[in-house]
Amino acid sequence: PQLANQIAAGEVVERPASVVKELVENSLDAGATRVDIDIDKGGSKLIRIRDNGAGIAKDELALALSRHATSKVHTLDDLEAILSFGFRGEALASISSVSRLTLTSKTAEQTEAWQAYAEGSQMDVKVTPAAHPQGSTIEVVDLFFNTPARRRFLKSDKTEFTHIDEWLKRIAIARSDIHFALTHNGKLVRQYRPANTEIQSQQRLAQICGRAFADQALNIACEHDGLSLSGYLQSPHDRVITDTSFFYVNGRLVRDRLVNHAVKQAFAEHGIEHQPGYVLMLALDPHQVDVNVHPAKHEVRFHQSRYVHDFILQAIQSALLQMPT
Ligand code: ADP
Ligand code: MG
Repeated sequence: PQLANQIAAGEVVERPASVVKELVENSLDAGATRVDIDIDKGGSKLIRIRDNGAGIAKDELALALSRHATSKVHTLDDLEAILSFGFRGEALASISSVSRLTLTSKTAEQTEAWQAYAEGSQMDVKVTPAAHPQGSTIEVVDLFFNTPARRRFLKSDKTEFTHIDEWLKRIAIARSDIHFALTHNGKLVRQYRPANTEIQSQQRLAQICGRAFADQALNIACEHDGLSLSGYLQSPHDRVITDTSFFYVNGRLVRDRLVNHAVKQAFAEHGIEHQPGYVLMLALDPHQVDVNVHPAKHEVRFHQSRYVHDFILQAIQSALLQMPT
């Protein structure tokens, strides 16, 4: 089983940023409102994620580390809808197979916290008492210590940290209700405070995409026949070249050419040749999309892609038409 975990780890755990992604998504799934991320040496020395979510009960700690143990799928319908989000019960097992992993957690019902430790090839998980407020802390130490080939594949600490920082920006925009803090080598690098008002959301957008982008961005809010698109589009008057092209489907960041194409086409029809930045969130019936094309790459396949494309195109077209000149 350990070999199977390490093979699975190859798919899920490419680099420190993919560990951060899996762990933060778990925190969000657990209903956390605050997530603290501490990184040492680009994540190769330490990745620590602390949340104030629901926590993991004592007798489920060891289970959480075993493969295909997920608490998130209950029915076949859940499975179909949710598979698309990558709930496969593999992340913790995979990460612990290539690191020294400590999981400390307390649920609201428990009076004490408990800690589980697993290291590389060692499958017997030890559970001991610990001190921790409600929520979970997952500490991943010495990532890839037992898979030297993969460890050698890591880039410089700075590059690995940049991947983490860039990924967090994308999540922090989509989840502006969550407080995120990110440190590197003990130094606070990012602090995203929860945004509950329009002004605070605007501030978070400015923090991540720049003041000019946030001040001039066009608001997108469009709904039609079960599809809904919201977010921000770089103003055609703002000629700053940006690499902000963030697209989310049902709250998850995905990569897809369809949205790029629709945005570009709407701008071209408006006589604007450059590709603007955007932060766009699409919501639709989860049965209408497969996000599962590759577990870590986040590609999507829409069942009615033409229809989705034209919906996005029209949403952008009407935002451009309503734009104050
Ligand atoms: P998945 O997220 O696909 O269910 P994971 O391996 O990522 O699988 O996690 C396994 C299980 O451990 C989850 O289903 C959840 O029950 C529990 N878990 C992991 N991280 C947390 C967390 N931060 N807070 C609460 N529960 C967690
Ligand atoms: Mg998970």
